[in-house]
Amino acid sequence: MSRVFNFSAGPAMVPEAVLKQAQEEMLDWQGSGMSVMEMSHRGKEFMSIAEQAEADIRSIMEIPNNYKVLFLQGGASSQFAMVPMNLLKDKNTADYINTGAWSKKAIAEAKRYCEVNIAATTEADNFMRTPAASELSLNSDAAYVHYTPNETIGGVEFPYVPETGDVPLVADMSSTILSRPIDVSKFGVIYAGAQKNIGPAGLAVVIVREDLIGHAGNNVPAMFNYKTHMDNDSMYNTPPTYTWYLAGLVFQWIKNNGGINKIAEVNKRKADKLYAAIDDSSFYANPVEKESRSWMNVPFTLANADLDGVFLAEAKELGLTTLKGHRSVGGMRASIYNAMPEAGVDALIEFMVQFEKRYG
Ligand SMILES: *Cc1c(COP(=O)(O)O)cnc(C)c1O
Repeated sequence: MSRVFNFSAGPAMVPEAVLKQAQEEMLDWQGSGMSVMEMSHRGKEFMSIAEQAEADIRSIMEIPNNYKVLFLQGGASSQFAMVPMNLLKDKNTADYINTGAWSKKAIAEAKRYCEVNIAATTEADNFMRTPAASELSLNSDAAYVHYTPNETIGGVEFPYVPETGDVPLVADMSSTILSRPIDVSKFGVIYAGAQKNIGPAGLAVVIVREDLIGHAGNNVPAMFNYKTHMDNDSMYNTPPTYTWYLAGLVFQWIKNNGGINKIAEVNKRKADKLYAAIDDSSFYANPVEKESRSWMNVPFTLANADLDGVFLAEAKELGLTTLKGHRSVGGMRASIYNAMPEAGVDALIEFMVQFEKRYG
């Protein structure tokens, strides 16, 4: 068996050490005589797994005590609705920053619940940059400000955290959570689907400042109310136990690999060298403004799009897979989340150089 370097945007690579540990523990988790997926979520074994996972993400991200960490189903997309359902209180307007495909989905969902003020949009620039702080026209009456720190499809990432004063800041961190240290206290809500930088699909991690919980209207279903999940330690109904366990193994992997500062250092190096390879050639191009380039998702095009198919086929032969760009962007996209080894990026760059020599 030989494992490939999988550049998929999501579900994405999981660290090999985590997969091996899961394999070892598959039939008998730590002498329990059963697999984690067979355990009662209310039994002491799974409770210990769940508590450890929460403790680990809290320590990795230095999450302050006045924040709850919820392990929910429904992916990041359910949060597009849960955010307005829980945060509007008596207000009827929210600010949204539009930087691309995922922002747009969040905006469309919010429009079902409130008036959406577009605080800034870079659509006129084809979403090839993030707006400067000076471009944000925030409404002081907004219930919250929502933005997408990293647009997974466009490969556009905010180089700063917007200042929103007393208005809670909400961030869809699906494709950037755990990639570097952040100051959680600047946010009201942080949410992320697990399948990019946390583990397998089926789980959303939602970090919510406590005072923002408990204000949902009576018409909000129990499953969509943050308070339900806070009051029940994310076990109001059966949680995705196996995914939660694997997420916990990934958190331990981060701790065992030097913590988030070390992970960030490697991520920056991986991104820097891939962008340098693109910029140093006249064959490859990345259209995103330099300051707004994503550390996690790197789209690039070939000078001759007729060669796209050959590029993908030859890359695959070498074990470099899922490099095809999103259908809305075209070209290539290399997603290089935490679990993509630096050797994978090196192999991709080496292939790109050789490919250009032969076809450029
Ligand atoms: C992948 C992604 C989503 C959607 O996540 P689901 O878990 O599939 O709902 C939302 N936002 C961003 C930024 C993403 O990258």
